[in-house]
Amino acid sequence: MKRDPPAPSPITATVDFAADGAQHGVLRLPWSRNDSAWGAVMIPLAVIGRGAGPTVLFTGASHGDEYEGPIALFDLARTLDPATMTGRAIILPALNYPAFRAGTRTSPIDGGNLNRGFPGDPRGGPTAQIADYVTRHLLPLADIVLDIHSGGRTLDFLPYAAVHALADEAQQRRAMEAAAAFGAPWSMMMRELDAGGMLDTTAEALGKVFVTTELGGGGTARAETVAIARRGVRNLLRHAGILAGPPPARPARWLAMPSAECFHIAEDEGLVEPCVMPGETVREGEILARIHPLARTGRAPLVQRAAMDGILVARHVPGLTQPGDCLAVIACAVAPGEASNRAATRPARDRKTPPRTNRGESKA
Ligand code: ZN
Repeated sequence: MKRDPPAPSPITATVDFAADGAQHGVLRLPWSRNDSAWGAVMIPLAVIGRGAGPTVLFTGASHGDEYEGPIALFDLARTLDPATMTGRAIILPALNYPAFRAGTRTSPIDGGNLNRGFPGDPRGGPTAQIADYVTRHLLPLADIVLDIHSGGRTLDFLPYAAVHALADEAQQRRAMEAAAAFGAPWSMMMRELDAGGMLDTTAEALGKVFVTTELGGGGTARAETVAIARRGVRNLLRHAGILAGPPPARPARWLAMPSAECFHIAEDEGLVEPCVMPGETVREGEILARIHPLARTGRAPLVQRAAMDGILVARHVPGLTQPGDCLAVIACAVAPGEASNRAATRPARDRKTPPRTNRGESKA
């Protein structure tokens, strides 16, 4: 059956992607509304480059409450000198711009989670239209894609750059090299709880070298995590050969998430007492957090135990939790070779599993 060609994107760019120099413009997304009849969402965009060379596409604030990306990328767009470049940087510091302005993970216009909305839809809402524009108009221009995330208002991460296990070994190796060049304290072979609709999988399916990050969180930025992002974006431009000189060599410390057991999900509501912080080593069975009941005195907390040995890489941030919240994530330190050997997809080993949650601490 013949399928209709996709509709053209309603989004227009005010820059010429092929021109040399530094251009500061916007993606203009029509959004007619009560306070602006022929109005538009104006998504900030810089295209900076010179001559023939590779292109790196940088995106931040795909989730609007994650701040290292926007800070580092507004900064990069302001300071990158095209005279020092061979190739091009396409920089979108705040990709889900309505969410960024609202300080929320998802869009206040249509509720869209941009990093679950790929490949997008030109006839969908604003979030789907942004995803579609990235998929059809920006990804084809890029050799390397860096999508900077952090934990947002509900998670706090040990800072790392991440790649995924890919069927194409050469593509995976190039992604691991780019992630290591970014120069975060850790590199991660990342497992996704929910990979559907992600920019990650869309870019990887197009054969791009795709790197993402988790750099902190809690709905704010920290001096150290901003410094990692600021260094990392320039390190990646050096790695690509767009800026001169190699990125500073540092041994990559790799982590992997060996099974879905990495994710520790709250089974009840309550007041969270964190017992381990990101970066700390944990042993299987160790208490990660206690969830104290909210309603009455005299009741024991629910105890959340580690399902595996490893390093805590993320923790829940708000003081209160609800059932289904991600409370903690554990990863394992691995050699780079082991990370590329699908340590990330190894099943959990058999063992006598102690209860991962129980009321009170006497039972284990
Ligand atoms: Zn995110």
